[in-house]
Amino acid sequence: MREDGQRIVCFIGVGSNVADPVSNCLESIDRIASFASSKIAQRSSLYRTEPVGVADQDWFVNCVVEIQTPHRASTLLRILQEIENAMGRVRNERWGPRTIDLDILLYGQSIIQEDDLTVPHPELHNRRFVLVPMCEIAPYVIHPSYGISMMGLLNRLEDLSAVELLKMGPSICR
Ligand code: ATP
Ligand code: CA
Ligand code: CA
Repeated sequence: MREDGQRIVCFIGVGSNVADPVSNCLESIDRIASFASSKIAQRSSLYRTEPVGVADQDWFVNCVVEIQTPHRASTLLRILQEIENAMGRVRNERWGPRTIDLDILLYGQSIIQEDDLTVPHPELHNRRFVLVPMCEIAPYVIHPSYGISMMGLLNRLEDLSAVELLKMGPSICR
């Protein structure tokens, strides 16, 4: 926990393209609420997205959640990695298929540069599959390194990969 007892508003990028990606994403969010003792303030819609980087794999399901966390960023990263491992993520190829991927996109307005943690996430401003869900729940939040809102970043984005709103039946719509 942070010594000051403060809760920090933080945005987490969630993605999956193995087995049942919708339920993997939703399960990981439930786990963030319980294991990271964090309040889920908002969740974007789920999106079906074209793979970026390694093209020869299934499309992803992606979303972004806003949480209020009592943890330092480094502790939060460790907890997110424990959730990834518990859900059976095998770390092999970078950007390859994965059961669940949980990235810290923003941690308040902090800029963090450590060996194993860079915040804001270094690709946040380059990825349509992150900026579209970000803009759905937090269009006016400022990227602390660039001083530009999420909407401003989306408007100037060069990434044209497909990001489609996923229509879900009421039974899995939580
Ligand atoms: P990308 O980071 O480009 O989205 P990836 O999510 O596939 O790629 P991973 O294999 O999940 O990459 O993570 C590689 C390493 O990235 C992790 O071991 C972690 O220490 C580091 N990392 C650095 N910054 C962050 C961050 N903001 N959120 C999550 N992991 C991060
Ligand atoms: Ca990632
Ligand atoms: Ca990751």
